[in-house]
Amino acid sequence: MKIVVATHNKGKLREFKAALETVGIEAVSIGEVVKVPEPEETGTTFLSNARIKAQYYMEACGLPCLADDSGLAVDVLDGAPGVYSARYAGPQCDDEANNHKLIESVKDVPFEKRTARYVCELVLAYPDGRELTATGYCEGLIQTEAVGDGGFGYDPYFYLPQFAKTMAQLSMDEKNAISHRGLALKELLEKLKSQ
Ligand code: IMP
Repeated sequence: MKIVVATHNKGKLREFKAALETVGIEAVSIGEVVKVPEPEETGTTFLSNARIKAQYYMEACGLPCLADDSGLAVDVLDGAPGVYSARYAGPQCDDEANNHKLIESVKDVPFEKRTARYVCELVLAYPDGRELTATGYCEGLIQTEAVGDGGFGYDPYFYLPQFAKTMAQLSMDEKNAISHRGLALKELLEKLKSQ
């Protein structure tokens, strides 16, 4: 079986390919199969945005299509940046601007109240209308100093109590074992295996 992965991100593609290979599924990137513009992510939840992408690309290429949507939800910010994680500081913004806005928003809140989680939703849409979904969470706290140079996005500020480190201080393997994306992928593989 072949699955098209709705991402142009090489790191994510590598991760998805390696995981799907363990259940005998070949993963190819959407860019290798069809050239279409990206859909607008108009959903208000991670699940609805993942579904928009999976459905859109599945219809564009006629093959089973796997899409993910992920982000950071901070409790004292009522779940922000949430689905706006990639563009928290504005449509053209980058990690630095997003992180700056995040730290400004929580700096007056005591550290122990800055609880947050990364969330990842996966949707695998099949041409016959079937759908598989999986969710992963990773709990942590927001610190105001950047530590570590691994990972990406909010990782240098995302403190993991069980490691006493930020996400940016973990190796790739350590991150994959506990990350929202790693856990969602694990759940999806279990569902694929039991089909
Ligand atoms: P996407 O689902 O890959 O588009 O991610 C949306 C945004 O959520 C990213 O641009 C990051 O800001 C944030 N994000 C998602 N996953 C991670 C992660 O593992 N580390 C840091 N930031 C993340």
